[in-house]
Amino acid sequence: MSQSTQETAIAVSDDIRRAALDVRANAYVPYSDHPVGAVLISDSGRTYAGCNVESANYKGLCAEGSAIAALVSNGERVIKEIYVIGPGAHLCTPCGDCRQRIREFATVDTRIVVLDGDGAPLKQYRMDELLPDSFGPENLDKRSPMG
Ligand SMILES: [Zn+2]
Repeated sequence: MSQSTQETAIAVSDDIRRAALDVRANAYVPYSDHPVGAVLISDSGRTYAGCNVESANYKGLCAEGSAIAALVSNGERVIKEIYVIGPGAHLCTPCGDCRQRIREFATVDTRIVVLDGDGAPLKQYRMDELLPDSFGPENLDKRSPMG
């Protein structure tokens, strides 16, 4: 078991922080005015970013989902780390749908980090902390990065 997230310093590189701020700036949020960015690092070391993209029918895309779509669109399948940045000081944790989306491509060691609006780390999670006792590909007899 790893240490509690509260006792461990959370390291976020300047590159990740900048990428998170940059992608959040591209968010299309005319309805919620709640811009979110997500940056993930795959197991190959490549970085993918996404922002939330709203639509008039209120069925827009979350930032995490956009970043995961970029990951998968580039032929990759494993999230090593994912960073989420909201607009303010509050914890902008992935929504329920996105927790399940991240779970699809997460390993037991995947790091999920929530940044504050300035890009400083607020809190870090493992997948089983964010979505305990989760349903995943294994439940459907499919392979998963979880093993
Ligand atoms: Zn979401």
